[in-house]
Amino acid sequence: MRRTTAQQDRAAGTLLGMAAGDALGAGYEFTHPTPDQVIDMIGGGIGNFEPGEWTDDTSMAVAIALVTAEGIDVRTDAGLDAVAANFVRWFDDGPKDFGVMTGQVLRQRPASAQAMSLAASAIPGRHGGNGSLMRTAPIGLAFPGDPAATAEAALRVSALTHDDNRAGEACQIWSLLIEDAVRTGELDREWRVLQHLDSSVADHWLPLKKQAETGEPQQFPDNGWVVHALQTAWWAITTTDDLPRGIKAAVRAGHDTDTTAAIAGALLGATYGAASIPDRWREMLHGWPGLRAEDLVRLAHRTGVSGSA
Ligand SMILES: [Mg+2]
Repeated sequence: MRRTTAQQDRAAGTLLGMAAGDALGAGYEFTHPTPDQVIDMIGGGIGNFEPGEWTDDTSMAVAIALVTAEGIDVRTDAGLDAVAANFVRWFDDGPKDFGVMTGQVLRQRPASAQAMSLAASAIPGRHGGNGSLMRTAPIGLAFPGDPAATAEAALRVSALTHDDNRAGEACQIWSLLIEDAVRTGELDREWRVLQHLDSSVADHWLPLKKQAETGEPQQFPDNGWVVHALQTAWWAITTTDDLPRGIKAAVRAGHDTDTTAAIAGALLGATYGAASIPDRWREMLHGWPGLRAEDLVRLAHRTGVSGSA
């Protein structure tokens, strides 16, 4: 599928918005900023990141985007193997920070996507962390105009590290919202995209969506969990009217700030486009594997236009 100039701008905005939210939130991870605290791209945080440096959230999304930008279908075994190999490559490069679930899976260095998913399933305890949702943005770009393919890919890529129905559903919902926003230029505030998923998904998630829109972040504080992470991001998006305010709101909600702001930033960028990201932030952005903002633009522009859809 060919994108219009405006659609290309929103595709680029998706990855740039994710990276901007990630780098903005990095300095505030596991804190609760006070109302008078300035939110800026200060770096620091758990991984002592450089100002403008993105963290594991964007790095893992880049690992996916490097595959989708080649026109490789990530629903196929070959495509999933390529994503899995990039996850291991990133992990072998010694990231400053990574999620609990992801670390437990990747330190086993699974040699294939199937081995990776099996390793994820074998880990005892709860599996519903936000670590697959935070990286799902490229899936929203990979299959323009094809919600069924978007939903299938989101589920399979999530399952590489997260054996959890809610994590998979969250990735499906967010990827579908991104696909829709990039194509139409409108945020699907009613989540009409749920028509592409099993009705049980709507039954579970629509009350959570409503709570996010009408409530406060204190009602969904455990945002290391995929459900509260999605709610925090949706709250930040629906209570603001531009990208900088939206990702700052996600950071101000506190706790897993880089991840909630990365999740929010992807859909905000898909809606408002690359032009909505302040130049100063865009110039500061950088991260694994030695990329900058313009490289994210290139990956976004190539994804979804070269044979994968
Ligand atoms: Mg992070």
